[in-house]
Amino acid sequence: MPILVQKFGGSSVATPEKIQSAARKAIRAQQDGYQVVVVVSAMGDNTDNLIALADQINTEPSAREMDMLLSTGEQVSVALMAMAVQRFGHKAISLTGGQIGIRTDSSFSKARIRSIATDRMKSLLDQGNIVIAAGFQGIDEELNITTLGRGGSDTTAVALAAVLEASACEIFTDVDGVYTTDPRILPEARQVSQISYDEMLELASLGAGVMHNRSIEFAKKFDVPIRVRSSFSDAAGTMIVAESESEAASVCGVALTRSEARLTIQRVSDRPGTSYEIFKRLADRKIDVDMIVQNVGSDGLANISFTVPQGELKQALRALEDAKQTVSAAGISVDQDVAKVSAVGLGMSRQTGIAHQMFSAIAAAGINLQMISTSEIKISVLVQRSVAEQALRAIHATFSLPKTPTDAKSWADTSSQRKSHLSPEQVIERLQNADMERLMLDEITMADDQSRITLTDVPDKPGLAAEIFQTVAAQGVFVDMIVQSYDGDAEVNSISFTIPRSQFEKCQKILASMKTSVGEVQASREIAKLSVSGIGLRSHTSVAINMFAALAEQGINIQMINTSELRVNVVVDAAAGAKALLALQNKFKSLNQF
Ligand code: ADP
Ligand code: ASP
Ligand code: MG
Repeated sequence: MPILVQKFGGSSVATPEKIQSAARKAIRAQQDGYQVVVVVSAMGDNTDNLIALADQINTEPSAREMDMLLSTGEQVSVALMAMAVQRFGHKAISLTGGQIGIRTDSSFSKARIRSIATDRMKSLLDQGNIVIAAGFQGIDEELNITTLGRGGSDTTAVALAAVLEASACEIFTDVDGVYTTDPRILPEARQVSQISYDEMLELASLGAGVMHNRSIEFAKKFDVPIRVRSSFSDAAGTMIVAESESEAASVCGVALTRSEARLTIQRVSDRPGTSYEIFKRLADRKIDVDMIVQNVGSDGLANISFTVPQGELKQALRALEDAKQTVSAAGISVDQDVAKVSAVGLGMSRQTGIAHQMFSAIAAAGINLQMISTSEIKISVLVQRSVAEQALRAIHATFSLPKTPTDAKSWADTSSQRKSHLSPEQVIERLQNADMERLMLDEITMADDQSRITLTDVPDKPGLAAEIFQTVAAQGVFVDMIVQSYDGDAEVNSISFTIPRSQFEKCQKILASMKTSVGEVQASREIAKLSVSGIGLRSHTSVAINMFAALAEQGINIQMINTSELRVNVVVDAAAGAKALLALQNKFKSLNQF
Protein backbone atom coordinates (compact mmCIF):
# COMPACT_ATOMS: atom_id res chain seq x y z
CA MET A 1 0.00 0.00 0.00
CA PRO A 2 1.37 3.48 -0.79
CA ILE A 3 2.46 5.59 2.15
CA LEU A 4 1.59 9.28 2.59
CA VAL A 5 3.26 11.56 5.15
CA GLN A 6 1.17 14.53 6.29
CA LYS A 7 2.66 17.28 8.44
CA PHE A 8 0.59 19.79 10.42
CA GLY A 9 2.35 22.96 11.59
CA GLY A 10 1.75 24.83 14.84
CA SER A 11 -1.14 26.98 13.63
CA SER A 12 -2.83 23.89 12.15
CA VAL A 13 -3.00 22.22 15.58
CA ALA A 14 -3.43 25.35 17.70
CA THR A 15 -6.85 24.40 19.15
CA PRO A 16 -8.76 21.18 19.91
CA GLU A 17 -11.02 21.89 16.89
CA LYS A 18 -8.02 22.25 14.60
CA ILE A 19 -6.52 19.03 15.91
CA GLN A 20 -9.79 17.27 15.15
CA SER A 21 -9.91 18.74 11.67
CA ALA A 22 -6.32 17.58 11.03
CA ALA A 23 -7.23 14.12 12.31
CA ARG A 24 -10.11 14.00 9.80
CA LYS A 25 -7.70 14.78 6.95
CA ALA A 26 -5.47 11.90 7.99
CA ILE A 27 -8.46 9.54 8.21
CA ARG A 28 -9.62 10.64 4.79
CA ALA A 29 -6.19 9.87 3.32
CA GLN A 30 -6.31 6.43 4.92
CA GLN A 31 -9.75 5.85 3.43
CA ASP A 32 -8.32 6.88 0.05
CA GLY A 33 -6.00 3.90 0.25
CA TYR A 34 -2.83 5.22 1.88
CA GLN A 35 -0.95 4.13 4.96
CA VAL A 36 -0.66 7.44 6.79
CA VAL A 37 2.09 8.90 8.95
CA VAL A 38 1.21 12.25 10.52
CA VAL A 39 3.95 14.55 11.79
CA VAL A 40 2.90 17.33 14.15
CA SER A 41 4.43 20.50 15.55
CA ALA A 42 3.82 22.01 18.95
CA MET A 43 0.39 23.68 19.33
CA GLY A 44 0.25 27.33 18.28
CA ASP A 45 2.96 29.41 19.93
CA ASN A 46 3.84 26.74 22.43
CA THR A 47 7.52 26.59 21.45
CA ASP A 48 7.86 30.37 21.84
CA ASN A 49 6.10 30.18 25.18
CA LEU A 50 8.47 27.49 26.40
CA ILE A 51 11.44 29.61 25.35
CA ALA A 52 10.03 32.58 27.27
CA LEU A 53 9.46 30.37 30.29
CA ALA A 54 13.07 29.18 30.26
CA ASP A 55 14.24 32.78 30.00
CA GLN A 56 12.51 33.57 33.29
CA ILE A 57 14.54 30.88 35.01
CA ASN A 58 17.93 31.29 33.33
CA THR A 59 18.84 33.72 30.53
CA GLU A 60 21.59 31.44 29.28
CA PRO A 61 20.11 27.96 29.63
CA SER A 62 22.18 24.98 28.60
CA ALA A 63 21.42 23.69 25.13
CA ARG A 64 20.70 20.18 26.38
CA GLU A 65 18.04 21.31 28.83
CA MET A 66 16.55 23.62 26.24
CA ASP A 67 16.04 20.68 23.87
CA MET A 68 14.58 18.61 26.69
CA LEU A 69 12.11 21.43 27.32
CA LEU A 70 11.19 22.29 23.72
CA SER A 71 10.60 18.68 22.72
CA THR A 72 7.66 18.56 25.14
CA GLY A 73 5.62 20.83 22.86
CA GLU A 74 5.46 18.20 20.13
CA GLN A 75 4.83 15.46 22.68
CA VAL A 76 1.62 17.19 23.76
CA SER A 77 0.45 17.46 20.15
CA VAL A 78 1.07 13.84 19.15
CA ALA A 79 -0.87 12.47 22.10
CA LEU A 80 -3.84 14.78 21.45
CA MET A 81 -3.78 13.98 17.72
CA ALA A 82 -3.81 10.23 18.41
CA MET A 83 -6.74 10.73 20.81
CA ALA A 84 -8.60 12.68 18.11
CA VAL A 85 -8.15 9.89 15.53
CA GLN A 86 -9.20 7.29 18.08
CA ARG A 87 -12.27 9.25 19.01
CA PHE A 88 -13.37 9.12 15.36
CA GLY A 89 -13.15 5.35 15.57
CA HIS A 90 -9.80 4.74 13.87
CA LYS A 91 -6.58 3.24 15.08
CA ALA A 92 -3.73 5.61 15.93
CA ILE A 93 -0.57 5.57 17.97
CA SER A 94 1.70 8.45 18.88
CA LEU A 95 5.50 8.18 18.98
CA THR A 96 8.26 10.55 20.08
CA GLY A 97 11.37 10.97 17.96
CA GLY A 98 13.21 8.59 20.26
CA GLN A 99 10.47 5.95 20.06
CA ILE A 100 10.57 6.02 16.27
CA GLY A 101 14.35 5.77 16.33
CA ILE A 102 15.31 9.13 14.83
CA ARG A 103 19.02 9.21 15.63
CA THR A 104 20.79 12.55 15.44
CA ASP A 105 24.18 13.99 16.22
CA SER A 106 24.58 15.81 19.54
CA SER A 107 24.44 19.42 18.38
CA PHE A 108 21.58 20.47 20.62
CA SER A 109 19.12 22.92 19.04
CA LYS A 110 20.57 22.27 15.55
CA ALA A 111 20.87 18.50 15.52
CA ARG A 112 21.24 16.72 12.19
CA ILE A 113 19.51 13.44 11.48
CA ARG A 114 21.83 10.48 11.11
CA SER A 115 19.40 7.61 10.67
CA ILE A 116 15.76 6.67 11.09
CA ALA A 117 14.50 3.20 11.96
CA THR A 118 11.49 2.14 9.91
CA ASP A 119 10.59 -1.28 11.41
CA ARG A 120 8.37 -0.07 14.20
CA MET A 121 6.53 2.46 12.04
CA LYS A 122 6.02 -0.09 9.27
CA SER A 123 4.62 -2.75 11.53
CA LEU A 124 2.29 -0.24 13.22
CA LEU A 125 1.09 0.90 9.79
CA ASP A 126 0.56 -2.72 8.72
CA GLN A 127 -1.63 -3.17 11.79
CA GLY A 128 -3.89 -0.42 10.45
CA ASN A 129 -2.69 2.44 12.64
CA ILE A 130 -2.31 6.03 11.64
CA VAL A 131 1.16 6.69 13.06
CA ILE A 132 1.48 10.09 14.72
CA ALA A 133 5.11 11.20 14.92
CA ALA A 134 6.50 14.08 16.95
CA GLY A 135 8.23 16.57 14.68
CA PHE A 136 11.44 18.50 15.34
CA GLN A 137 13.09 15.96 17.69
CA GLY A 138 15.38 12.96 17.88
CA ILE A 139 17.83 11.30 20.22
CA ASP A 140 21.60 11.19 20.14
CA GLU A 141 23.89 8.27 20.88
CA GLU A 142 23.62 8.82 24.64
CA LEU A 143 19.80 8.90 24.37
CA ASN A 144 19.73 12.66 25.03
CA ILE A 145 16.74 14.36 23.43
CA THR A 146 17.81 16.70 20.63
CA THR A 147 15.90 19.17 18.45
CA LEU A 148 16.50 19.98 14.80
CA GLY A 149 16.21 23.79 14.87
CA ARG A 150 13.19 26.11 14.67
CA GLY A 151 10.76 25.00 11.99
CA GLY A 152 12.33 21.54 12.07
CA SER A 153 9.09 19.53 11.92
CA ASP A 154 9.16 20.00 8.14
CA THR A 155 12.51 18.24 8.14
CA THR A 156 11.18 15.37 10.25
CA ALA A 157 8.27 14.96 7.82
CA VAL A 158 10.33 14.91 4.64
CA ALA A 159 12.97 12.65 6.21
CA LEU A 160 10.25 10.17 7.26
CA ALA A 161 8.78 10.33 3.74
CA ALA A 162 12.24 9.54 2.36
CA VAL A 163 12.99 6.51 4.53
CA LEU A 164 9.45 5.14 4.18
CA GLU A 165 9.65 5.71 0.41
CA ALA A 166 6.32 7.53 0.64
CA SER A 167 4.54 8.67 -2.52
CA ALA A 168 4.60 12.26 -1.25
CA CYS A 169 4.91 14.51 1.77
CA GLU A 170 2.05 16.93 2.37
CA ILE A 171 2.86 20.03 4.42
CA PHE A 172 -0.36 21.48 5.83
CA THR A 173 0.05 25.06 6.96
CA ASP A 174 -1.74 28.40 7.32
CA VAL A 175 -1.21 29.59 3.72
CA ASP A 176 -2.45 28.03 0.47
CA GLY A 177 1.00 27.12 -0.77
CA VAL A 178 4.34 28.66 -1.65
CA TYR A 179 4.07 32.25 -2.84
CA THR A 180 6.48 34.47 -4.77
CA THR A 181 7.16 36.06 -1.40
CA ASP A 182 5.59 36.02 2.07
CA PRO A 183 1.95 36.95 1.35
CA ARG A 184 1.68 38.45 4.82
CA ILE A 185 4.25 41.06 3.83
CA LEU A 186 3.19 41.64 0.22
CA PRO A 187 -0.49 40.97 -0.48
CA GLU A 188 0.29 41.10 -4.21
CA ALA A 189 2.42 37.93 -3.91
CA ARG A 190 1.25 35.11 -6.20
CA GLN A 191 0.88 31.48 -5.24
CA VAL A 192 3.03 29.37 -7.54
CA SER A 193 1.82 26.05 -8.86
CA GLN A 194 5.21 24.40 -8.58
CA ILE A 195 8.75 25.32 -7.60
CA SER A 196 12.03 23.46 -7.95
CA TYR A 197 13.97 21.97 -5.05
CA ASP A 198 16.92 24.25 -5.80
CA GLU A 199 14.84 27.41 -5.78
CA MET A 200 12.88 26.46 -2.66
CA LEU A 201 16.07 25.49 -0.83
CA GLU A 202 17.64 28.83 -1.63
CA LEU A 203 14.49 30.80 -0.74
CA ALA A 204 14.02 28.88 2.51
CA SER A 205 17.55 29.51 3.65
CA LEU A 206 17.24 33.20 2.70
CA GLY A 207 14.17 33.74 4.86
CA ALA A 208 11.07 32.17 3.28
CA GLY A 209 9.83 30.64 6.52
CA VAL A 210 7.18 28.50 4.88
CA MET A 211 9.60 25.54 4.71
CA HIS A 212 12.57 24.58 6.89
CA ASN A 213 15.52 24.69 4.51
CA ARG A 214 16.92 21.32 5.58
CA SER A 215 13.65 19.61 4.66
CA ILE A 216 14.31 20.59 1.05
CA GLU A 217 17.81 19.12 1.22
CA PHE A 218 16.18 15.79 2.07
CA ALA A 219 13.57 16.18 -0.63
CA LYS A 220 16.20 16.79 -3.28
CA LYS A 221 18.58 14.13 -2.04
CA PHE A 222 15.91 11.41 -1.86
CA ASP A 223 13.52 12.66 -4.54
CA VAL A 224 10.50 13.28 -2.30
CA PRO A 225 7.71 15.34 -3.92
CA ILE A 226 6.34 17.85 -1.40
CA ARG A 227 2.90 19.43 -1.58
CA VAL A 228 2.49 22.58 0.52
CA ARG A 229 -1.20 23.25 1.12
CA SER A 230 -3.68 24.87 3.45
CA SER A 231 -4.97 23.13 6.54
CA PHE A 232 -8.15 25.10 6.25
CA SER A 233 -9.22 24.37 2.66
CA ASP A 234 -8.95 21.67 0.02
CA ALA A 235 -7.09 23.84 -2.49
CA ALA A 236 -4.40 22.06 -4.53
CA GLY A 237 -1.44 23.94 -3.05
CA THR A 238 2.10 24.08 -4.44
CA MET A 239 4.29 21.18 -5.50
CA ILE A 240 8.00 21.27 -4.69
CA VAL A 241 9.66 18.99 -7.24
CA ALA A 242 12.75 18.81 -9.45
CA GLU A 243 11.53 21.23 -12.14
CA SER A 244 10.73 24.93 -11.94
CA GLU A 245 7.36 26.40 -12.75
CA SER A 246 8.68 28.35 -15.72
CA GLU A 247 11.67 28.18 -18.03
CA ALA A 248 11.22 31.77 -19.15
CA ALA A 249 11.14 33.56 -15.79
CA SER A 250 14.50 34.75 -14.46
CA VAL A 251 13.31 35.11 -10.86
CA CYS A 252 10.79 32.83 -9.13
CA GLY A 253 10.65 34.45 -5.72
CA VAL A 254 12.06 36.98 -3.29
CA ALA A 255 12.77 36.56 0.40
CA LEU A 256 13.50 38.74 3.36
CA THR A 257 15.66 38.00 6.38
CA ARG A 258 14.67 40.80 8.67
CA SER A 259 16.86 40.03 11.64
CA GLU A 260 20.30 40.00 10.12
CA ALA A 261 23.42 41.60 11.60
CA ARG A 262 26.56 42.70 9.79
CA LEU A 263 29.98 42.19 11.30
CA THR A 264 33.21 43.62 9.96
CA ILE A 265 36.62 42.61 11.15
CA GLN A 266 38.81 45.54 10.30
CA ARG A 267 42.25 45.89 8.80
CA VAL A 268 43.47 42.32 8.83
CA SER A 269 46.46 41.36 6.74
CA ASP A 270 45.42 40.08 3.32
CA ARG A 271 47.32 36.82 3.30
CA PRO A 272 46.57 33.10 3.00
CA GLY A 273 44.89 31.67 6.08
CA THR A 274 43.17 34.82 7.34
CA SER A 275 39.68 33.78 6.24
CA TYR A 276 40.32 30.32 7.56
CA GLU A 277 41.29 31.57 11.02
CA ILE A 278 38.15 33.71 11.20
CA PHE A 279 35.51 31.43 9.73
CA LYS A 280 36.80 28.30 11.44
CA ARG A 281 35.89 29.87 14.75
CA LEU A 282 32.40 30.67 13.49
CA ALA A 283 31.90 27.20 12.03
CA ASP A 284 33.04 25.56 15.27
CA ARG A 285 30.11 27.34 16.89
CA LYS A 286 27.83 26.26 14.01
CA ILE A 287 26.95 29.86 13.18
CA ASP A 288 25.26 30.42 9.80
CA VAL A 289 27.44 32.95 8.04
CA ASP A 290 26.32 34.63 4.83
CA MET A 291 27.35 37.39 2.42
CA ILE A 292 31.09 37.14 3.02
CA VAL A 293 32.80 40.07 1.36
CA GLN A 294 36.35 41.25 1.62
CA ASN A 295 37.60 44.60 0.68
CA VAL A 296 41.32 45.00 0.19
CA GLY A 297 42.75 48.48 0.63
CA SER A 298 45.81 49.84 -1.17
CA ASP A 299 47.87 49.27 1.99
CA GLY A 300 47.40 45.49 1.71
CA LEU A 301 45.08 45.40 4.69
CA ALA A 302 41.57 44.03 4.26
CA ASN A 303 38.20 44.50 5.89
CA ILE A 304 36.23 41.26 5.98
CA SER A 305 32.48 41.66 6.38
CA PHE A 306 29.74 39.08 6.62
CA THR A 307 26.25 38.68 8.01
CA VAL A 308 24.80 36.36 10.64
CA PRO A 309 21.26 35.93 11.96
CA GLN A 310 20.83 38.49 14.73
CA GLY A 311 20.11 35.75 17.25
CA GLU A 312 23.62 34.42 16.69
CA LEU A 313 25.37 37.78 17.00
CA LYS A 314 26.56 37.31 20.58
CA GLN A 315 28.18 34.00 19.73
CA ALA A 316 29.66 35.42 16.51
CA LEU A 317 31.23 38.30 18.42
CA ARG A 318 32.80 35.83 20.81
CA ALA A 319 34.26 33.96 17.86
CA LEU A 320 35.67 37.16 16.36
CA GLU A 321 37.17 38.32 19.66
CA ASP A 322 38.88 34.97 19.76
CA ALA A 323 40.23 35.37 16.19
CA LYS A 324 41.16 39.04 16.51
CA GLN A 325 44.69 38.58 17.81
CA THR A 326 45.61 35.70 15.50
CA VAL A 327 44.73 37.75 12.41
CA SER A 328 46.01 41.05 13.92
CA ALA A 329 42.77 42.90 13.35
CA ALA A 330 42.45 46.57 14.25
CA GLY A 331 38.86 46.24 15.42
CA ILE A 332 35.40 44.80 14.95
CA SER A 333 32.33 46.74 13.91
CA VAL A 334 28.72 45.65 14.08
CA ASP A 335 25.53 46.91 12.46
CA GLN A 336 22.32 45.47 13.82
CA ASP A 337 20.04 47.74 11.87
CA VAL A 338 20.17 45.76 8.63
CA ALA A 339 18.06 43.27 6.71
CA LYS A 340 18.86 40.98 3.80
CA VAL A 341 16.68 40.93 0.71
CA SER A 342 17.24 38.25 -1.92
CA ALA A 343 15.94 37.30 -5.35
CA VAL A 344 16.12 33.66 -6.42
CA GLY A 345 15.60 31.91 -9.74
CA LEU A 346 17.13 29.11 -11.78
CA GLY A 347 16.55 31.29 -14.85
CA MET A 348 19.16 33.77 -13.58
CA SER A 349 21.95 31.51 -14.69
CA ARG A 350 20.63 31.63 -18.26
CA GLN A 351 20.01 35.37 -18.57
CA THR A 352 22.17 38.45 -18.28
CA GLY A 353 21.32 41.77 -16.70
CA ILE A 354 19.27 40.39 -13.82
CA ALA A 355 21.53 41.95 -11.18
CA HIS A 356 21.37 45.40 -12.68
CA GLN A 357 17.60 45.17 -13.04
CA MET A 358 17.38 44.40 -9.33
CA PHE A 359 19.81 47.15 -8.31
CA SER A 360 17.97 49.67 -10.51
CA ALA A 361 14.63 48.83 -8.90
CA ILE A 362 16.13 49.34 -5.45
CA ALA A 363 17.80 52.59 -6.53
CA ALA A 364 14.52 53.87 -8.01
CA ALA A 365 12.99 53.39 -4.56
CA GLY A 366 15.79 55.62 -3.19
CA ILE A 367 17.31 52.82 -1.16
CA ASN A 368 21.04 52.48 -0.58
CA LEU A 369 22.74 49.10 -1.00
CA GLN A 370 25.13 48.36 1.81
CA MET A 371 26.37 44.98 0.68
CA ILE A 372 25.84 42.79 -2.37
CA SER A 373 26.58 39.13 -2.89
CA THR A 374 25.47 37.19 -5.94
CA SER A 375 25.76 33.58 -6.99
CA GLU A 376 24.39 31.41 -9.81
CA ILE A 377 20.75 31.43 -8.75
CA LYS A 378 20.47 34.20 -6.18
CA ILE A 379 21.29 37.83 -5.55
CA SER A 380 21.29 39.13 -2.00
CA VAL A 381 21.56 42.72 -0.88
CA LEU A 382 21.86 44.18 2.58
CA VAL A 383 19.84 47.32 3.30
CA GLN A 384 18.80 49.35 6.32
CA ARG A 385 16.10 47.40 8.14
CA SER A 386 13.48 50.14 8.05
CA VAL A 387 13.42 50.10 4.22
CA ALA A 388 13.72 46.35 3.70
CA GLU A 389 10.03 45.78 2.92
CA GLN A 390 10.11 48.63 0.46
CA ALA A 391 13.11 47.01 -1.26
CA LEU A 392 11.29 43.68 -1.30
CA ARG A 393 8.26 45.27 -2.94
CA ALA A 394 10.40 47.01 -5.56
CA ILE A 395 12.20 43.78 -6.51
CA HIS A 396 8.94 41.80 -6.55
CA ALA A 397 7.46 44.32 -8.95
CA THR A 398 10.45 44.69 -11.27
CA PHE A 399 10.49 40.96 -11.98
CA SER A 400 6.69 40.97 -12.57
CA LEU A 401 6.21 38.34 -9.92
CA PRO A 402 2.49 39.02 -9.40
CA LYS A 403 1.92 37.81 -13.00
CA THR A 404 1.83 34.13 -13.92
CA PRO A 405 4.63 33.42 -16.44
CA THR A 406 3.23 32.61 -19.88
CA ASP A 407 4.92 29.21 -19.93
CA ALA A 408 3.97 28.32 -16.33
CA LYS A 409 3.52 24.61 -15.77
CA SER A 410 0.38 23.67 -14.00
CA TRP A 411 0.88 20.82 -11.63
CA ALA A 412 -2.47 19.25 -12.50
CA ASP A 413 -1.33 18.90 -16.16
CA THR A 414 2.09 17.49 -15.48
CA SER A 415 1.72 15.34 -12.37
CA SER A 416 1.30 12.14 -14.36
CA GLN A 417 4.58 12.76 -16.18
CA ARG A 418 6.68 13.91 -13.26
CA LYS A 419 10.31 13.64 -14.16
CA SER A 420 12.40 12.35 -11.34
CA HIS A 421 15.92 13.73 -11.23
CA LEU A 422 17.23 10.48 -9.73
CA SER A 423 16.91 6.84 -10.70
CA PRO A 424 15.28 4.48 -8.16
CA GLU A 425 18.70 2.81 -7.73
CA GLN A 426 20.30 6.13 -6.82
CA VAL A 427 17.65 6.79 -4.18
CA ILE A 428 18.07 3.32 -2.68
CA GLU A 429 21.83 3.74 -2.60
CA ARG A 430 21.49 7.09 -0.84
CA LEU A 431 19.05 5.63 1.66
CA GLN A 432 21.49 2.87 2.52
CA ASN A 433 24.08 5.42 3.46
CA ALA A 434 24.60 5.35 7.20
CA ASP A 435 24.41 9.11 7.71
CA MET A 436 21.29 10.57 6.08
CA GLU A 437 21.98 14.24 6.50
CA ARG A 438 25.65 13.97 5.68
CA LEU A 439 27.12 16.42 3.25
CA MET A 440 27.07 15.27 -0.36
CA LEU A 441 29.20 16.97 -2.94
CA ASP A 442 28.63 16.66 -6.70
CA GLU A 443 31.77 18.09 -8.20
CA ILE A 444 34.76 20.38 -7.83
CA THR A 445 35.51 22.48 -10.89
CA MET A 446 37.69 25.32 -12.06
CA ALA A 447 37.04 28.08 -14.61
CA ASP A 448 40.26 29.82 -15.57
CA ASP A 449 39.05 32.03 -18.39
CA GLN A 450 37.90 34.92 -16.24
CA SER A 451 39.13 38.28 -14.98
CA ARG A 452 38.33 40.28 -11.89
CA ILE A 453 37.58 43.98 -11.70
CA THR A 454 37.66 45.70 -8.32
CA LEU A 455 36.52 49.25 -7.77
CA THR A 456 37.71 50.78 -4.53
CA ASP A 457 36.62 54.01 -2.87
CA VAL A 458 33.25 53.87 -4.64
CA PRO A 459 31.10 56.73 -3.29
CA ASP A 460 28.35 55.35 -1.06
CA LYS A 461 25.20 56.61 -2.70
CA PRO A 462 21.98 55.02 -3.91
CA GLY A 463 21.99 53.98 -7.53
CA LEU A 464 25.69 53.78 -8.18
CA ALA A 465 25.92 49.99 -8.32
CA ALA A 466 22.90 49.99 -10.63
CA GLU A 467 24.55 52.55 -12.88
CA ILE A 468 27.83 50.65 -13.07
CA PHE A 469 26.24 47.31 -13.94
CA GLN A 470 23.75 48.89 -16.30
CA THR A 471 26.54 50.59 -18.20
CA VAL A 472 28.67 47.47 -18.58
CA ALA A 473 25.66 45.23 -19.37
CA ALA A 474 24.42 47.67 -22.00
CA GLN A 475 27.71 47.16 -23.83
CA GLY A 476 27.39 43.39 -23.75
CA VAL A 477 29.76 42.54 -20.89
CA PHE A 478 28.68 39.39 -19.10
CA VAL A 479 29.13 39.95 -15.36
CA ASP A 480 29.27 36.83 -13.20
CA MET A 481 30.07 37.04 -9.45
CA ILE A 482 29.40 40.42 -7.82
CA VAL A 483 30.31 41.39 -4.28
CA GLN A 484 30.07 44.78 -2.67
CA SER A 485 31.36 45.51 0.76
CA TYR A 486 30.48 48.43 2.92
CA ASP A 487 32.55 50.38 5.30
CA GLY A 488 30.08 52.42 7.28
CA ASP A 489 32.77 54.59 8.83
CA ALA A 490 34.55 55.61 5.63
CA GLU A 491 31.35 56.03 3.60
CA VAL A 492 32.90 54.34 0.60
CA ASN A 493 32.30 50.90 -0.84
CA SER A 494 34.36 48.46 -2.77
CA ILE A 495 32.79 46.45 -5.56
CA SER A 496 34.36 43.40 -7.17
CA PHE A 497 33.02 41.36 -10.04
CA THR A 498 34.19 38.76 -12.48
CA ILE A 499 33.86 38.85 -16.27
CA PRO A 500 35.05 36.68 -19.17
CA ARG A 501 38.73 37.38 -19.85
CA SER A 502 37.90 38.12 -23.49
CA GLN A 503 36.01 41.21 -22.28
CA PHE A 504 38.65 42.43 -19.83
CA GLU A 505 40.04 45.33 -21.88
CA LYS A 506 36.63 46.35 -23.11
CA CYS A 507 35.22 46.48 -19.59
CA GLN A 508 38.08 48.59 -18.30
CA LYS A 509 37.53 51.06 -21.14
CA ILE A 510 33.84 51.29 -20.35
CA LEU A 511 34.56 52.03 -16.69
CA ALA A 512 37.19 54.61 -17.54
CA SER A 513 34.76 56.45 -19.83
CA MET A 514 31.93 56.60 -17.29
CA LYS A 515 31.01 60.17 -16.39
CA THR A 516 30.11 59.37 -12.80
CA SER A 517 33.05 58.78 -10.51
CA VAL A 518 33.18 55.07 -9.76
CA GLY A 519 36.32 55.08 -7.63
CA GLU A 520 39.62 53.55 -8.45
CA VAL A 521 39.92 50.50 -10.71
CA GLN A 522 42.14 47.64 -9.56
CA ALA A 523 41.92 44.75 -11.96
CA SER A 524 43.33 41.29 -12.25
CA ARG A 525 43.38 39.82 -15.75
CA GLU A 526 44.20 36.25 -14.78
CA ILE A 527 42.03 34.70 -12.15
CA ALA A 528 40.64 31.24 -11.58
CA LYS A 529 37.24 30.52 -10.08
CA LEU A 530 37.01 27.27 -8.15
CA SER A 531 33.63 25.83 -7.34
CA VAL A 532 32.48 23.08 -5.02
CA SER A 533 28.90 22.03 -5.71
CA GLY A 534 26.49 19.81 -3.82
CA ILE A 535 23.26 19.94 -1.82
CA GLY A 536 22.64 22.27 1.13
CA LEU A 537 26.06 23.89 1.18
CA ARG A 538 25.12 26.88 3.28
CA SER A 539 23.79 24.88 6.16
CA HIS A 540 26.88 22.67 5.98
CA THR A 541 29.18 25.47 7.06
CA SER A 542 32.15 23.14 6.90
CA VAL A 543 32.40 23.37 3.09
CA ALA A 544 33.65 26.93 2.95
CA ILE A 545 35.93 26.27 5.93
CA ASN A 546 37.48 23.23 4.33
CA MET A 547 38.04 25.22 1.16
CA PHE A 548 39.74 27.98 3.15
CA ALA A 549 41.82 25.41 5.01
CA ALA A 550 42.92 23.58 1.86
CA LEU A 551 43.96 26.82 0.16
CA ALA A 552 45.68 28.23 3.25
CA GLU A 553 47.71 25.02 3.61
CA GLN A 554 49.02 25.62 0.09
CA GLY A 555 49.71 29.32 0.72
CA ILE A 556 47.04 30.41 -1.78
CA ASN A 557 45.27 33.72 -1.16
CA ILE A 558 41.51 34.03 -1.69
CA GLN A 559 40.39 37.13 -3.58
CA MET A 560 36.62 36.68 -3.60
CA ILE A 561 34.09 34.22 -2.24
CA ASN A 562 30.39 33.59 -2.62
CA THR A 563 28.14 30.90 -1.27
CA SER A 564 24.76 29.49 -2.16
CA GLU A 565 22.94 26.29 -1.32
CA LEU A 566 24.25 24.79 -4.56
CA ARG A 567 27.81 26.02 -4.67
CA VAL A 568 30.68 27.70 -2.90
CA ASN A 569 32.90 29.67 -5.29
CA VAL A 570 36.28 31.19 -4.57
CA VAL A 571 38.46 33.31 -6.79
CA VAL A 572 42.24 32.96 -6.71
CA ASP A 573 45.11 34.08 -8.87
CA ALA A 574 45.11 32.05 -12.12
CA ALA A 575 48.74 31.04 -11.60
CA ALA A 576 47.64 29.15 -8.48
CA GLY A 577 44.53 27.66 -10.12
CA ALA A 578 45.74 24.13 -10.87
CA LYS A 579 47.37 23.79 -7.47
CA ALA A 580 44.20 25.08 -5.80
CA LEU A 581 42.02 22.60 -7.67
CA LEU A 582 44.20 19.71 -6.61
CA ALA A 583 44.25 20.93 -3.01
CA LEU A 584 40.45 21.06 -2.94
CA GLN A 585 40.08 17.63 -4.53
CA ASN A 586 42.48 16.11 -2.02
CA LYS A 587 40.87 17.86 0.92
CA PHE A 588 37.34 16.67 0.18
CA LYS A 589 38.54 13.19 -0.78
CA SER A 590 40.36 12.87 2.52
CA LEU A 591 37.17 13.90 4.32
CA ASN A 592 35.29 11.25 2.36
CA GLN A 593 32.87 13.83 1.06
CA PHE A 594 33.70 13.47 -2.57
P1 ADP B 1 3.77 26.15 10.24
O1 ADP B 1 3.48 26.47 11.65
O2 ADP B 1 2.62 25.51 9.53
O3 ADP B 1 5.05 25.39 10.05
P2 ADP B 1 5.06 28.58 9.40
O4 ADP B 1 4.63 29.80 10.13
O5 ADP B 1 6.36 27.96 9.76
O6 ADP B 1 3.87 27.54 9.48
O7 ADP B 1 5.08 28.86 7.83
C1 ADP B 1 3.98 29.44 7.18
C2 ADP B 1 4.21 30.94 7.04
O8 ADP B 1 5.32 31.16 6.18
C3 ADP B 1 3.09 31.68 6.36
O9 ADP B 1 2.11 32.05 7.28
C4 ADP B 1 3.79 32.88 5.72
O10 ADP B 1 3.61 34.05 6.47
C5 ADP B 1 5.26 32.51 5.76
N1 ADP B 1 5.95 32.62 4.46
C6 ADP B 1 7.17 33.19 4.28
N2 ADP B 1 7.52 33.15 3.00
C7 ADP B 1 6.52 32.54 2.34
C8 ADP B 1 6.33 32.18 0.97
N3 ADP B 1 7.24 32.47 0.03
N4 ADP B 1 5.20 31.54 0.63
C9 ADP B 1 4.28 31.24 1.57
N5 ADP B 1 4.40 31.56 2.87
C10 ADP B 1 5.51 32.20 3.26
N1 ASP C 1 7.73 23.59 17.19
C1 ASP C 1 8.97 23.86 16.53
C2 ASP C 1 9.09 25.35 16.27
O1 ASP C 1 8.21 26.11 16.62
C3 ASP C 1 9.14 23.07 15.28
C4 ASP C 1 8.17 23.36 14.17
O2 ASP C 1 7.13 23.97 14.38
O3 ASP C 1 8.46 22.98 13.05
O4 ASP C 1 10.08 25.78 15.75
MG1 MG D 1 7.07 25.95 9.81
